[in-house]
Amino acid sequence: MSQTVLVINSGSSSIKYQLLNPKTGQVLAKGLCEQIGEPTGLIRHVAHGNTTVVTERVADHGQGLQRILDLFEKCGPKIEDAGVVAVGHRVVQGGSYFDGPAIIDQKVHATITKLCPLAPLHNPAHLKGIDVGKKLLPDVPHVAVFDTAFFHSLPEAAATYALDQTVAQEYKIRRYGAHGTSHQLVSRQVSEFLGRDDLRQIVLHLGNGSSASAVKNGRAVDTSMGLTPLEGLVMGTRTGDIDPAVVFHLARTAGMSADDVDVLFNKKSGLLGLCGDNDMRAVRGRANAGDTQARLALDIVLHRLQKYVGAYVAVLNGLDVLTFTAGIGENDGELRAELCAHLTFMGIELDEDANAVRSPEPRVISTPQSKVTVMVVPTNEELEIARQAMSLVEGR
Ligand code: ADP
Repeated sequence: MSQTVLVINSGSSSIKYQLLNPKTGQVLAKGLCEQIGEPTGLIRHVAHGNTTVVTERVADHGQGLQRILDLFEKCGPKIEDAGVVAVGHRVVQGGSYFDGPAIIDQKVHATITKLCPLAPLHNPAHLKGIDVGKKLLPDVPHVAVFDTAFFHSLPEAAATYALDQTVAQEYKIRRYGAHGTSHQLVSRQVSEFLGRDDLRQIVLHLGNGSSASAVKNGRAVDTSMGLTPLEGLVMGTRTGDIDPAVVFHLARTAGMSADDVDVLFNKKSGLLGLCGDNDMRAVRGRANAGDTQARLALDIVLHRLQKYVGAYVAVLNGLDVLTFTAGIGENDGELRAELCAHLTFMGIELDEDANAVRSPEPRVISTPQSKVTVMVVPTNEELEIARQAMSLVEGR
């Protein structure tokens, strides 16, 4: 029987899941349970090419996961026959404690709990998924795979904010990064594709949430997300970098509370705040139809990207590979071309035909003469979580 991993990504009001074979990458089933705790919940289960949709109230995460397991039983594949060797849980914040995946025992559970103040929206939701998952699937090891692990070994100079160190240490304020699972997978695939470990890479993970990383010889040396996933690039609804004094200004002049500013910066800004749409396809469509507000939003996104690429080229003292990934990075050829048009100073030359190709495979989109190789590498965080969970369990 093939060995599989059930990957669970438990959010505050949702549970995303995939049952997959980490060796082949085959997805046996996947789905999403949404609107947990609301009057009507929605579960979508895809298996054997069929989609089953259930709409009924899902009171809490325990009920949500139970319903998901019922759907596996009813629509397949049956969990007990699926060769599940581990359950892999995505965990956003591993703090300074985890540089790789960890089997969730009491100590690991306690550490994830201790880290809740650093990820108040995410870690408590992950713990719910872990607790009900362990209860419902008690016979297999449960593994936590941390978004921060790849950035655990950032050089001190990159990870440390220029903040009073007594305060920083007491409140554990440093750059933890996020999207690490994706940056690790993508940078490793680039190395494998090019058959070289000694690479200076920049990875641009551009989705609803976006982040950049600088990777030298397989190790992350800088990343744009910081204490939380708010810092860095312009995102769907997040500001990215902004003068922290805007917070004091809004508190003093607009009477906003910390929570008000949190919502403003995280949920109402970015593309949405700039032009009213947070979906890049809509923004791109409007800009191409001559909408100046959407065009300005795109230009702000591009300007920030240009600044990060320039900064990371300096951090890396040169660049071998620039890679695009995630929803926008993989699909928006215009954005890739627009950014690369600003990077000709370092000898980047895009191959227009290669850039226009849509494919689920890693591919080079620069010309053979280009001084920097430009690539598109589709990310697959679930597969990476499954692989890490399985290799940890196999290595026990
Ligand atoms: P996340 O996982 O952060 O929610 P994704 O990686 O799925 O996000 O990326 C979502 C973003 O990708 C959205 O802004 C969406 O508009 C954008 N996207 C998807 N397909 C395209 C496309 N063909 N052209 C431009 N943007 C696209």
